[in-house]
Amino acid sequence: MKGALLLFLGFSTQVLGAGLNSYADLIARDSETTPRDGVRVTYLGTNGYQFEFDGHALLVDPYFSRVDLLSIALGSRLQPDMPRVAEGMRHLAPKIEAILVTHGHFDHLLDVPTVMSRTHARLIASASAANLAKRAGAPSADAVTAGAVRRIGPWKIRVLAATHDRLFGKVPFDQPETRDSGPPQRPADWICGEPLAFLIEVGGQRIYVDSGGTPALLPPHERVDLAILGMALSDSRARLPAALERLQPSYILPSHQDNFFRPLDAGFQFGPLTDFSRVRHDCEQANRGHLILLDYFRPWTLTRK
Ligand SMILES: [Zn+2]
Repeated sequence: MKGALLLFLGFSTQVLGAGLNSYADLIARDSETTPRDGVRVTYLGTNGYQFEFDGHALLVDPYFSRVDLLSIALGSRLQPDMPRVAEGMRHLAPKIEAILVTHGHFDHLLDVPTVMSRTHARLIASASAANLAKRAGAPSADAVTAGAVRRIGPWKIRVLAATHDRLFGKVPFDQPETRDSGPPQRPADWICGEPLAFLIEVGGQRIYVDSGGTPALLPPHERVDLAILGMALSDSRARLPAALERLQPSYILPSHQDNFFRPLDAGFQFGPLTDFSRVRHDCEQANRGHLILLDYFRPWTLTRK
C-alpha cells in the first residue's frame, strides 16, 4: 500500500515537477568577483553539502547514487551506483577531512563507505548510523551523541539532537537496530537511528545543518550565519517559523527539497511532497535572513557580513 502510494507520488511528480527556473532570483552562486575568504558551500543534491575553508573540506550526507523510486518502493537490494558516485566526486575537494551524517537512511548514508574509501575521510555519525556504515564496509566511524564536540583542522563541530519528519504518520524505516552483522541490503535495513544536527564553526562563521525535524525539537537558541534546514516534508515546514526565530540566520537555505529519486544529471526538480511556496512565504513573514537556493554543484561562498 505504502509502495503504491510512493509510486503514485513518483509518477505525479513527473508531470507536476518544477525546477529552479522559477526562482532564479533566489539562487546564490559565486561570480568572478566573489571574495574567496569565506566558507565555500557546494550543494551535492538531497541533503548533501561540501564545506570548504582555507584548503580544508568537510562533507555532510553525500549521496550520489540516487536510487530510483521503483527500487525503493519494491524493497530492492541497494548498492551504490559506482559511475554516479565517481561523477559526483569529481566536484569534491581533493582532500576531505570528515563526513558528517545526520541519520542512517539510504539517501544520507548509502554512498558514505564508498566516499570514505576514496577520500580517507573520517565519519562522524550516531552509533546506529556508524554501525550501518561499518557493516557496509566503512573502515571506521566516530560514533557520537548529542553534546559531543569535535575539532578537526579549522572546524569546530558541535553535535546536536534532532528529530526526523514523519511520512504517512510515522518516521520511515524506524525499526530498532538489528543484531545482524551483515551488510545492509534493502531500503528498510538503512534505519533512521538517532537523528543528529550539526553546528559547524569555522573562520568566525557558524553554520547550522539538519535534515528536517518535527516541531517538538527545535534547533538551539543561537544566532547563525547560515541555517540549512531540511524541508522535505510537512513536519519540517511546521517547525520553520520557530526555527528561524531561534537561529536568527543571516541566510536560510531550505534543504532536502529535490526529487532525489532522479539522477543528479537530470537537474534539480522539487520533490512531490515539498511546498516551496509555503517555505518562501513563511521566510518572508518571519523576515529573518535572506532566503537562498543552491543548484547542484554550483558553489557559493558565505562571506562575513
Ligand atoms: Zn531520512
